[in-house]
Amino acid sequence: MSDLQPPRGTHDILPDDQRRHRQVAETAWGIAGLYGYEEISTPIFEATDVFRRTLGETSDIVTKEMYVFDDKKGRSLTLRPEGTAGVARAYISGMRSKPLPLKFFYQGPMFRYERMQKGRQRQFHQFGVELLGVEGPLGDVEIISLAAHILDALGLTDKVTLHLNTLGDSESREAHRAKLVEYLDAHRDRLSEESLTRLDRNPLRIFDSKDEGDQEVIEEAPLLSDHLNDSSKAFFDHVQAGLKTAGVAFELNPRLVRGLDYYCHTAFEFTTETLGAQGAVLAGGRYDGLIEAMGGPPTPGTGWAAGVERLALMIAEPPGPARPVAVVPIGEAAEAEALSLVQRLRQAGFTADLGFSGNLKKRLKGANKANAVAAVIIGDDELVKDAATVRDMETGEQTEVKLSALEDHLARYR
Ligand code: ATP
Ligand code: MG
Repeated sequence: MSDLQPPRGTHDILPDDQRRHRQVAETAWGIAGLYGYEEISTPIFEATDVFRRTLGETSDIVTKEMYVFDDKKGRSLTLRPEGTAGVARAYISGMRSKPLPLKFFYQGPMFRYERMQKGRQRQFHQFGVELLGVEGPLGDVEIISLAAHILDALGLTDKVTLHLNTLGDSESREAHRAKLVEYLDAHRDRLSEESLTRLDRNPLRIFDSKDEGDQEVIEEAPLLSDHLNDSSKAFFDHVQAGLKTAGVAFELNPRLVRGLDYYCHTAFEFTTETLGAQGAVLAGGRYDGLIEAMGGPPTPGTGWAAGVERLALMIAEPPGPARPVAVVPIGEAAEAEALSLVQRLRQAGFTADLGFSGNLKKRLKGANKANAVAAVIIGDDELVKDAATVRDMETGEQTEVKLSALEDHLARYR
């Protein structure tokens, strides 16, 4: 093998990082449960159409970022770049007879062929929620409150800002689109090549451009918020009032759009200043047209996804692994006894380690390295007495303890 590095853009998640990831995921699971959301897992690859049709032919993801491959039968498959399309597909294929609303959360790896930058990986992890079947603004209030609750439980409330916008309904977007195209057309010379191709197909997406020239043009562009019809306005007012009631702080950001084609009404993003350039930690919105566009019954939906790596970098250091009790045998006879003893301690719920080799000194050194709280030493003397010498690894104090009383004695170290 010539290259033993993980593939570009992927990482081994070593135990110290994994502990942080798990802390994020478990906190999120726990709180999602309080809101009645249940876990769903969909395949890591899907038929390419699942993403191409739902994310839109002009999206960054579809045009540049998908890992597409043919299987042995020539079927086009894609490693999932996000979670919503798979959940929508799963709803259509196996759950459409279930009563609505349905509440799901998911967690797992996503794959995007991104340009390499700090904070952007080609395999990364998302935790996300989807709420299907709630037409009204209370659905959006619920999922945003859930997001804020999770971020709060992770200790991040002071480090994030919630940006909120509305994309309105299709009538509002049509009215805006005409004005927007007229404006952008007059500034063609200042737009990036990429934005020029979007101009005809999906001009709203130009708001999402990271190109500086585009951003300058966008500064002056007509805003969707000035073209909302009454029902879209009322919807957005309800969302804002609901968030205020729920005690969730937000800032209006009329230039926030979502990079995906199927969004309508509510769009939002939690960002942070603490991670440098890649400040988006959680983003989502309403996608009422998605399930119908995939061939299912018209079903409203709203949801979000959070970047687990980014959140994991922000949280406080989670507690380390439990400190073990080290069982240290001296001599052959004691080794057999040690083996059953270490097993007995594990059965009793202690984290326990067997000093694997060497003399007493070497094994105690090993116990120290393993960050043991105590060492249970048994040699020939102890065997005769049916006892062990328990050494407190902090104080060095040694106590002779009957084997039958060992768990009781060690209870102080739990
Ligand atoms: P951007 O505009 O920065 O590319 P996006 O619109 O592609 O973001 P989403 O699809 O909304 O991002 O994904 C939700 C969250 O997943 C992001 O807010 C971010 O925290 C995380 N995320 C997205 N792409 C990556 C990546 N390549 N590496 C790590 N985390 C990512
Ligand atoms: Mg992206």
